[in-house]
Amino acid sequence: MKLSRPDRTPKILVLFSDTGGGHRSAAQAVIEVLEEKHAGEFALDMVDVFKAYAPYPLNRMPDLYPAMVKLPNLWRLGYRMFDGRRRTEVVMDSVWPWVRPAAKQLVREHPADLVLCVHPLFSAPVLRALGKHRPPFITVVTDLVTTPHYWFHRRVDVCVVPTEEVRRNALKSGLSTDQVKLLGLPVGKRFLQAGNKMEIRKRLGWPLDRPMILLIGGGEGMGPLYDTAQSIATLNPECALAVIAGKNDKLKQRLENAVWKIPVFIYGFTKEMPDFMKAADILVTKAGPGTISEALVSGLPMILYSRIPGQEDGNVRYVVEEGAGRWAPGAEKTAKAVRRWIIHPSFKESAAAACLRIARPRAANDIADLIWEWLPQAGKDSLKS
Ligand code: UDP
Repeated sequence: MKLSRPDRTPKILVLFSDTGGGHRSAAQAVIEVLEEKHAGEFALDMVDVFKAYAPYPLNRMPDLYPAMVKLPNLWRLGYRMFDGRRRTEVVMDSVWPWVRPAAKQLVREHPADLVLCVHPLFSAPVLRALGKHRPPFITVVTDLVTTPHYWFHRRVDVCVVPTEEVRRNALKSGLSTDQVKLLGLPVGKRFLQAGNKMEIRKRLGWPLDRPMILLIGGGEGMGPLYDTAQSIATLNPECALAVIAGKNDKLKQRLENAVWKIPVFIYGFTKEMPDFMKAADILVTKAGPGTISEALVSGLPMILYSRIPGQEDGNVRYVVEEGAGRWAPGAEKTAKAVRRWIIHPSFKESAAAACLRIARPRAANDIADLIWEWLPQAGKDSLKS
């Protein structure tokens, strides 16, 4: 099948959801490059599929997600129960009658020349709703290691994966070597721009003479951030701390009302992450794939204080095995791990070197180029056949 060339600006439909902050960040990183290289040559349509189309109660997923992953055992059980090739197919077939009207409405209301999907749960229903004569469909996997089978729908044209391990998972799941491209997890271009650490600290009002710890709990401020911040402050009196509460307003307020023994800078959801990572000495973070990938390209060594059970288990192993950081769950262990790096800076420096060694700074650029190759454009036939 050959798709006809659009006689107007070709449109890219991006399927994502704000369950956490990572899916949006990955999509934006790719879009940024497309906009830089091909400004005015394409139109963009971003849809938070859960919010805009999913039937109740799925449409509440972005709001409920932080609370749901707080029940770790239940979340892990759910994750395992619904994973695996056969189970995934059964689940998707069973829910199809329920989600079909919404999926059909989505594709009717958002005609596109290419679909970019950065969420595991949307490929199956949207591909089914699109039917046989459809635009190219590209998935960008935003999990670093542990990948639910939902990511690997066999009808996608290309499945972009971030690591060798995910490439193997994709092939095991039935995708062909032609379908799977190992390009990395895309991070925003501001993470790649050079910046002077002390200049940035001055601008941020951060101290110049103290080791600076950056504490992040993903886009939603997840995990025991408050206790972790307090323990770090108590055990590391020579440091300063920046805590990112993300969209967790309650946590931000609690942090603001607390008494601190060291200089502490508290932020809600921020767009300054690239500069924060350049200005910090140590990252303490939940094992979110987006934050980890950003820290890798920033050469910022990390201590992982928590992880979402199931989907983030493999991220911990990846970071530790590659030497880019340590796993230290629980406030006290985390604070001790920070202490160790403060006392022995060479451990921290070798982790920083490991970060840069495994980073894939070209990911967003390469994915944008791939999308451009597949996008049917005036003057160029679609590659889909
Ligand atoms: N993030 C941000 N501002 C914040 C908190 C987080 O821009 O205040 C971004 C962060 O840089 C990363 C994403 O949100 O790109 C979080 O993604 P990750 O995969 O680490 O965790 P998730 O929130 O998806 O669980």
